[in-house]
Amino acid sequence: MNKLKIAFYDAKDYDRNSFEIANADGRFDVRYYETRLTEDTAKLAEGCDAVCVFVNDDINRKVIDTLAGMGIKLIALRCAGYNNVDIEYAFGKIHVVRVPAYSPYAVAEHAMALLLTSIRRIHKAYIRTKDFNFSLNGLTGFDLHGKTVGVVGTGKIGRIFIDICNGFGMHVIAYDKFPQENSGIEYVSLDELWQRSDIISFHCPLTDENRHMVNAETIARMKKGVVLINTSRGALIDAEALVEGIKQRQVGAACLDVYEEESDVFFHDYSNHIVADDVLARLISMPNVIVTSHQAFLTAEALSNIADTTLDNVSGFFRDGICKNEVCYRCDKVSSCNQDHSTKCF
Ligand code: NAD
Repeated sequence: MNKLKIAFYDAKDYDRNSFEIANADGRFDVRYYETRLTEDTAKLAEGCDAVCVFVNDDINRKVIDTLAGMGIKLIALRCAGYNNVDIEYAFGKIHVVRVPAYSPYAVAEHAMALLLTSIRRIHKAYIRTKDFNFSLNGLTGFDLHGKTVGVVGTGKIGRIFIDICNGFGMHVIAYDKFPQENSGIEYVSLDELWQRSDIISFHCPLTDENRHMVNAETIARMKKGVVLINTSRGALIDAEALVEGIKQRQVGAACLDVYEEESDVFFHDYSNHIVADDVLARLISMPNVIVTSHQAFLTAEALSNIADTTLDNVSGFFRDGICKNEVCYRCDKVSSCNQDHSTKCF
């Protein structure tokens, strides 16, 4: 069998390193492109069997038509979320596979790292002591022990985050659209979660239904001084409403690894530029907001798992014609599907 050709978009040095290790035997011809996959760059994949994409590649209808028109059979996401793919439109035209889990620990641990950094003012203290300023004024934090944390989404990452929070002696409540029975988790309604939580952390996928689930109205129902942590997808939070909530002191702090308009900014060095996004600039300027640029997944273990699973997905799809990590718009609607495929989605 000829080497499978993969057009690899939005390639960064760390991607290339991990994929070159996973492809050390040269099974695949991987063509790395720094550019994202867009309508203009889709043509770069001409002659390839598959494209490999990440969270900010926009796989819209035109991109799908172009790829399918060139005979490309597979979109291999090297991430878990697939909200950036029009999977309903892709159905019947091009298959989509993903990496459902690579290191849920990486993301859950990053969420806790952000929380601790924020509430213990580590980001401030680090800069102060670098400048030999050893004053403590303004650095008062609060204990996590005994606080109530609301976890939205109790899948792989949410469960690990819950375990971490339990380790800190926190009281955990959770909301999930599909609660796990006999899990020992105290599930509550979303409204109750908004009202009772001192800290809220998001670990659910972004869907049409939960876009902007944090908005002016839900923020108003939260406890005054609530700390929000988002390592899931930016558009769960209405960023303008968040700015307003912080200005009104209703939101005490925000820890954001994702941002709804991140695709034009995150993963790039804009240190010598004027960032045009006023909402992001306002958030970054606030002392109680910490932004990391979608780096929660970025551990050596996760990168290695992503590369191995992605290449297995591609070879499994072309060799066996099926892939257990395939997703389509029906997957989360048909209960028997559960992403564990024994046949192709179409
Ligand atoms: P998972 O599929 O194991 O769990 C998701 C959970 O969310 C499930 O229990 C599901 O029932 C629940 N859910 C679905 N729709 C919901 C809704 N509308 N409201 C509440 N809960 C809902 O996924 P996971 O591996 O735990 O990942 C969670 C999310 O984390 C992903 O969807 C992705 O967006 C994000 N993520 C971010 C990074 C990062 O680097 N920041 C990395 C990986 C994943």
